Amino acid sequence: MYCDCHGHWTDPRVTEEQRTQWLEDSLKNNLNLFMEAGVNPEGWQRQILLQKQYPKNFKNAFGLHPYFVAENDEATCDEAMNELSHILHSASGLGETGLDFREQYTQNGATDRQIVFFENQVQLAKASSKPLVLHVVRAHNEALRVLMVWEADTVGGMVHAFNSSLEIAEQYLKMNFLISVGGAVTFEKNKKLREAVAAIPLEKLLLESDCPDQAPEGWADEQNSPLSVLSVAKTVAGIKQISIETVLEKTSENFRKLFT
Ligand SMILES: [Zn+2]
Repeated sequence: MYCDCHGHWTDPRVTEEQRTQWLEDSLKNNLNLFMEAGVNPEGWQRQILLQKQYPKNFKNAFGLHPYFVAENDEATCDEAMNELSHILHSASGLGETGLDFREQYTQNGATDRQIVFFENQVQLAKASSKPLVLHVVRAHNEALRVLMVWEADTVGGMVHAFNSSLEIAEQYLKMNFLISVGGAVTFEKNKKLREAVAAIPLEKLLLESDCPDQAPEGWADEQNSPLSVLSVAKTVAGIKQISIETVLEKTSENFRKLFT
């Protein structure tokens, strides 16, 4: 029984009909456990409903995504943080949280706000003993600094949609984080990530779809689906020269251990 370690089934772009189809297709392919990652307070409520509907198939992480922090003022983020502290006990992990330093998320004080609320969430994760689900784009050095200062290795977690070098991956491994790879690894031109995946031990890897985003190379549908985890597994198996089943089994076991 296999896992998709990160997705967004409750994203407003995904219809009820689509969700039903995804679940049916996934179960047919032995994919039966999904981590639904948090983005903002409204989304947490949808996640709670989905998890109630399919308690055996979904685990939740609740968190304030760097996009949410970048797009809202400090008072709104404070309020959301307060809400998070009240509902986090019912989640398996805290996230997505992290830093995204692309231009559109770093305007008008958003960089500093992202850092403050990332630090707050790391502290909350530690106080609640919840592993972290990290979203880090163009900000690995700063994110690693925060994790070290706040000693996040005591809770650890996963770096979702990792797309960087082995050197950076090794620093996360040292901080007790697993590396989760998705569609990006299927692109042949992505040599740096492929080299990293070749060297990262299978015990430290997770697979994800990040549905409905981050489709693998050559994906036919407009929206990515949880089934793309199978394409990711195939690529990782090819890189590591082991069987697809071994990749799926081991990464699923890693996931279950991390989010017990
Ligand atoms: Zn995500």
